[in-house]
Amino acid sequence: MEIKICWMYHDIMDLYGDKGNMMVLKKRCEARGISCTIDTLGIGEEKDLTQYDLLFLGGGADKEQMMLIEDLLSRKENIKQALNQGTFALLICGGYQLFGQYYISADNKKIEGLKLFDYYTETGDNGSRCIGNIAIKCNLDGREIVAVGFENHGGQTRNVSSPLGNVLSGHGNCFGAKQEGFYNGQVLGTYMHGPLLPKNPEIADFIIYKALKAKNPDVALTDLVPLDDTLEHKAKEAMLHRLQVK
Ligand code: GLN
Repeated sequence: MEIKICWMYHDIMDLYGDKGNMMVLKKRCEARGISCTIDTLGIGEEKDLTQYDLLFLGGGADKEQMMLIEDLLSRKENIKQALNQGTFALLICGGYQLFGQYYISADNKKIEGLKLFDYYTETGDNGSRCIGNIAIKCNLDGREIVAVGFENHGGQTRNVSSPLGNVLSGHGNCFGAKQEGFYNGQVLGTYMHGPLLPKNPEIADFIIYKALKAKNPDVALTDLVPLDDTLEHKAKEAMLHRLQVK
């Protein structure tokens, strides 16, 4: 089996080690004999996104979001086609924001999003930002998982029809939000850097499974051979203890 990943705007959207998500997917695939190809996509590069099983877009500062938005919007139809044919998308923070209606940056500039979903993001009052460690409980196609990460965003995301999870500690989609991220079965957006996947191997395997599903509809999550995640689980326990999450 194989998965083909397109790492979008790899050179500018890589906050807080988001590239670690790519390294983890590759390593966990290889450990199971699954071939994992990762292509990068820079601004202006020609690439047909429908040939990929997974699109990945990391987080970035307002400046980088502005740099890439024109290019991203020019790919809207191609992204829609890819999603329609089963490609999965993983979006972190600034990337997550840009798939919604719009993002209003810290200096009050409106960046139009891809408008694939109803959520929108506005800037925090007086430049305030949601910063710190975060823990959420998410439901991934019926499987409950406690996930941990680190958030740092001024953007306050509202009108999220199907959040990724409930906040156990931290902020989430906006100050005081009870919910974090977006997940509709095919697109997973989250404010969790950390990076996300090294800290949450269950989500890493879930993403691999969803990417495999693009070409192998009969694949099951349980088809993935378990790996030794002792260290990852210990790290998560330590974080949950620190956040006083039971
Ligand atoms: N620039 C966006 C914000 O501040 C996204 C930041 C990020 O990706 N960490 O909300």
